[in-house]
Amino acid sequence: MINVTKTFLPPLEEYVSYLERIWASGQITNNGELLRELEQRLKDFLGVKHLFFTANGTLALQVALRAMDIKGQVITTPFSYVATTGALLWEHCEPVFVDIGPRDYCIDPGKIEAAITPETEAILAVHVYGCACEVDAIAAIARRHNLKVLYDAAHTFGARLNGRSLASYGDAAALSFHATKLFHTGEGGAVVTDNDDLARKIRLYRAFGHIGEDYFSIGINAKNSELHAAMGLCMLPRVPELIAMRRELASGYDQQLHELPLVRPQPAEGLERNFAYYPVVFPSEAALLSARAALAAANIGTRRYFFPPLNRLPYVQGDSCPLAEAVSARVLCLPLSHAITSSMQREITDMLRACLLS
Ligand SMILES: *Cc1c(COP(=O)(O)O)cnc(C)c1O
Repeated sequence: MINVTKTFLPPLEEYVSYLERIWASGQITNNGELLRELEQRLKDFLGVKHLFFTANGTLALQVALRAMDIKGQVITTPFSYVATTGALLWEHCEPVFVDIGPRDYCIDPGKIEAAITPETEAILAVHVYGCACEVDAIAAIARRHNLKVLYDAAHTFGARLNGRSLASYGDAAALSFHATKLFHTGEGGAVVTDNDDLARKIRLYRAFGHIGEDYFSIGINAKNSELHAAMGLCMLPRVPELIAMRRELASGYDQQLHELPLVRPQPAEGLERNFAYYPVVFPSEAALLSARAALAAANIGTRRYFFPPLNRLPYVQGDSCPLAEAVSARVLCLPLSHAITSSMQREITDMLRACLLS
């Protein structure tokens, strides 16, 4: 079986050496030594002032929405993982969907202003597949209309835009360190911000709103443990090598698929990519479905990431977003991980060629 993704695991001895530190300290959670070390290293790596390691990326989004005091309508993209819209709804915000751009599949800033109403409080945009949103245009709109900007930066780890980590844009950003992500801690995530006031609230909300032992603000349990921090400490030094390996595979796909009628998102100018995913857009949904079935019959897993578009979820009433709907119906992520060898890649691209050129 060739999986669309495979979790990279560090050498067991290395993880065990961190476990020995946990056993020596006796502290397994609640802001332990490894968590503080990971947070510091991640702050340095991402170039952000504040970073809070959380239990997952969805809670990171929820805690950020709360800390930013976002309540009303939130302009967001229909082309993302379900957690982006789910977090908004869970926090009683109203998602207002604005279509994506044709090049990067991120929210189209040219369409945002038409969707702003007196109830609009914020923009929640997604740097989808590690492609960069048009961050300057979004920041300018937010300034003009006094809106907050939160990025779902779940796909951005290791990507840089104009020399800055892509995760560092916006008033705050939420990252996911789920096992399927490029940098992972098994389960995990983080909220990042440069804003001190916001950071103070995030710290409170992440851990039950504790102020000292007896006093509380509102809060939730979004903390993460020493066991997960240990995984992060093992993984972080490997990020450059993991990105280099994915770059190699992505360029293999580029070369072997270049004559096929497949479209890919185009990286923004100034973006240093992380090659987190390898999405291809088929000429039609029928072409996608038959290729996917042929690959599945050969035990090659792919993923319709993202399908359905979030404005078409059964529990939301989203306006139509023609481009997101068209891309969502025709996009497939191809296998991309350390476990994919060049001969597996050849098998995958040969099958796609047979499907698409027959
Ligand atoms: C993975 C992901 C999330 C959710 O992160 P979890 O850590 O799984 O909760 C949110 N948004 C996007 C775009 C994602 O890919």
